[in-house]
Amino acid sequence: MCEFCTKHGDGKIWYKNAANYANDLLSDVRRRMYIKDFLSSAFSDGFQTLGRLETIFRKKGRLPEAVKTALINKTREEHFGQVLPIEEIGDLVKKALTVVRMPCACRWNTGKKEVRCCYAVSYGPDAWYKDINMDYFGKTPDEGLESISPDNAIQQMEEMEEHGAVHTIWTMMTPFIGAICNCSPDECLAMRTLSRVHVETMERSEYVGIADGELCNGCGLCYEACHFNAIDSVSGNGRSFVRIDPYRCFGCGLCRRVCSTGAISLVLR
Ligand code: SF4
Ligand code: SF4
Ligand code: SF4
Repeated sequence: MCEFCTKHGDGKIWYKNAANYANDLLSDVRRRMYIKDFLSSAFSDGFQTLGRLETIFRKKGRLPEAVKTALINKTREEHFGQVLPIEEIGDLVKKALTVVRMPCACRWNTGKKEVRCCYAVSYGPDAWYKDINMDYFGKTPDEGLESISPDNAIQQMEEMEEHGAVHTIWTMMTPFIGAICNCSPDECLAMRTLSRVHVETMERSEYVGIADGELCNGCGLCYEACHFNAIDSVSGNGRSFVRIDPYRCFGCGLCRRVCSTGAISLVLR
């Protein structure tokens, strides 16, 4: 378990604690204000900050520790994300009272492309996303939020995983959990922050991939599927097979999906 579980889990994995979805968190005026302008503050401002950090990183080859710590602390307080494998996402979505699909704020920011792969979930009668300012997408408040059944949402997310999406959950001022995202490395703000300035603003899943060398035929499909460079090919006894580095693995499960021999499984980290 991560430090989030200790702080917000009440003895469980933090995202399994019902209190983190509860409507009474929405009575916090600061959270309401945050949600209203969340798209522009988290994404427009977030991408601008990343641009500035990339410039520093290119010049110095690394970021000052104080800058990294400030960035991590800010995301942990405001819009904290964690990777989850599809079965855990399914459990969360099934319990939701309402699910709406909305455009991806990262993909909109990077290329003004409307890709509908973000899901706002609510577990009580007062849906948090009603207050969100859709101006960010050039839409009115009643445009762009598409109600969808939990079963359909899960099916869509499984299809996105086929195309390499990493499933993530996100807080709207921590610990309130409101969004489930399906991210791609070139567009997701958190994944770009990881690859371009080497700062982890998104937690790894509670799981880690392991590969069974006996079952592996060395096809390399998992290697190509992994967005986190966690898989290496090794040789032994005249054959090649893969090994997963647990320190790099984010536990997304993409390698498991593409493996046709059943060599990869996810185990608790
Ligand atoms: S976190 Fe993922 S799905 Fe959500 S807005 Fe960013 S890329 Fe899109
Ligand atoms: S996809 Fe499966 S069989 Fe292919 S290299 Fe990876 S673990 Fe081995
Ligand atoms: S090794 Fe597998 S589970 Fe781990 S990050 Fe890569 S694709 Fe995801």
